[in-house]
Amino acid sequence: MSLYVGVDLGGTNIVSGLVDEEGRILARDKRPTRQDLGLDGSLGQMKESIRTVVGQAGDSVRAIGIGSPGPIDPFEGVVLEPENLPAWRNVPLVRIVEEEFGVPAFLDNDANVAALGEQWQGAGKGVKFFMCVTLGTGIGGGAVLDGKLLQGFNGNAAEIGHITIDYDGPPCPCGNRGCLELYASATGIVRRTKERMERERPETSLWEKFENLTAKDISQAAHEGDEFARRMYEETGFLLGVGLVSAINLYNVEVIALGGGMAHAGEILFEPVRRTVRERALPGVRDKVRIVPSQLGDDAGLLGAARMAMQQAE
Ligand SMILES: [Zn+2]
Repeated sequence: MSLYVGVDLGGTNIVSGLVDEEGRILARDKRPTRQDLGLDGSLGQMKESIRTVVGQAGDSVRAIGIGSPGPIDPFEGVVLEPENLPAWRNVPLVRIVEEEFGVPAFLDNDANVAALGEQWQGAGKGVKFFMCVTLGTGIGGGAVLDGKLLQGFNGNAAEIGHITIDYDGPPCPCGNRGCLELYASATGIVRRTKERMERERPETSLWEKFENLTAKDISQAAHEGDEFARRMYEETGFLLGVGLVSAINLYNVEVIALGGGMAHAGEILFEPVRRTVRERALPGVRDKVRIVPSQLGDDAGLLGAARMAMQQAE
């Protein structure tokens, strides 16, 4: 039986898994990325992590897949200059890993790889047209269309976080204005909530946490009956829904999975998202598309990376 290694490269940790063709994780290794050691030290951590799981496989590993923060070039196999991997600049990672382990390696960005993982073993299992949206510091997106990961001509497809929802909105680091992730990411809801508090001085328990406010604080307060916090989630769900409508109309996906810490807020987020999609997406798709929580959590990255290796090594 062929086995595959999936690697989830993050700013803080590297997680590697040995995965079989049915999506079972047979071995796992997690260790710090150690960017403080510079590129060579950090690369050493990754090689050691991969070696640990490869060691459990005998000689049946056929390929290695890696998910990395973007920007990356998936076709050249190069990590370009990710914001949260400052030690990694223009690293030809695929070549390095192939030389080290003697099997084909493949690279894509973490959001794409997570989408592939969820489509294989999680919220999109059995679904051919699927999208996964990760709500974190930014908003990551990945689309699996007709069972295949949509990469785009140079690997930059499905950047759902940068759909414009306000053409005259605040500037986004990408150079555009009013991008979805400015409003509906974890960072976005915190920024909007604080601005609203300063402007409207509402009665809310969030004042106690104002300085270090997090999306989780807002969700917790909403669940405890704080009306202002609930309204902030309601509005965020609406704005997220407005962005997703564009993606739904473009891709005609059957399922969209929402992941990342904010998705744990549950119905206070999902209900306004679903309502907005029902009200605004095109007839013919709006009543068919399902918006669900993602299921794999931290395993989405390594399972998706392994799946990518499996599909591309064929
Ligand atoms: Zn943007």
